[in-house]
Amino acid sequence: MKVAVLSKSFAKASDQPITLLENAGIEVLQRPNDDPANEERVAELIGDCDGAIVAAQDRVGSIVFDRCPKLRVVADHAVGFDRIDMEVAQRRGIVVKTCPGNYESVADLAWLFILASARKLLPAVQSVKDGQWSPPAFSGAEVLHKTIGIVGYGQIGRAVIQRAQGFENKILVYDPFVRNIAPVGNLEIAHVSLDALLEQSDVVSLHVPLSEGTRYIIDSVALSKMKRSATLINTSRGGLVDEAALHRALTDGTIAAAATDVFETEPPGNNPLLGLPNFIATPHLGAQTADANIRTGMMAARIIIDVLTKNTNS
Ligand code: NAD
Repeated sequence: MKVAVLSKSFAKASDQPITLLENAGIEVLQRPNDDPANEERVAELIGDCDGAIVAAQDRVGSIVFDRCPKLRVVADHAVGFDRIDMEVAQRRGIVVKTCPGNYESVADLAWLFILASARKLLPAVQSVKDGQWSPPAFSGAEVLHKTIGIVGYGQIGRAVIQRAQGFENKILVYDPFVRNIAPVGNLEIAHVSLDALLEQSDVVSLHVPLSEGTRYIIDSVALSKMKRSATLINTSRGGLVDEAALHRALTDGTIAAAATDVFETEPPGNNPLLGLPNFIATPHLGAQTADANIRTGMMAARIIIDVLTKNTNS
């Protein structure tokens, strides 16, 4: 049995996932894909393998399923199914599963953004490196007991809430698709409307997928409802925030600060947001930790092993 690995990040932090596959009698063929949008190339790389471990951009549909007759299982080393034709896969009995193992890392990043924004960390660090020494210029805010608004109560939103226990925050959740919010320690958690969340939160943190329902969920109207002292955190997707409106809001004092791991266009080029002192940006690195890489790699390996060695389609 053979598995083709098109994902460049699979087993990058450790060989453990490869060892797991090999110990199960599966040959691992590392075939990093430089042309993921080209499905013909994806089919060529998978070839006569029984399984495939693909990356976030690899396109998998009828062309792959037609040209790779032995293919029985695809492990999506990322989280989203959007480039995989699930309908055709299901019709042909090919198992497709994702590896949702990076949410702890993204939740860490959201908290890094919350703390760094509250203490003006980036301009303060830069000022010291520039030879300046002016502590009062960086007067910030404590995070203890502040109200954190969580938009999207999924894996990452819940992991962000878990971390709030140490700061004894009040938590407001907006997620119209969720009925029950589980208690977390002694935290005060309320399920509220988006307007209430925007109006009352000291930090608004976005944890929803990008869809027609969430595109520009934070636009100029939403920003105008936030506190002037508030911080907006986006570790989800660029299209959730109207970047021009955010630039205006950060410049005219509508809100105090913003931090984002994602942009509508990536890389962001000369996006004017990058020039603002109250704006933090990272290069979509939320999932980029060794821990997440090992966790998702082991998940992918187990998905392949389950199907190829146990002869099950479940
Ligand atoms: P999830 O599917 O577990 O949770 C998403 C939640 O959003 C669900 O509870 C859903 O009900 C809710 N939701 C959907 N539409 C909504 C709406 N209109 N308003 C409010 N809530 C809504 O997803 P997750 O694992 O928590 O990930 C959240 C997002 O984080 C992902 O969609 C992805 O865009 C992003 N992400 C980013 C990185 C990164 O590297 N920065 C890594 C992983 C995921």
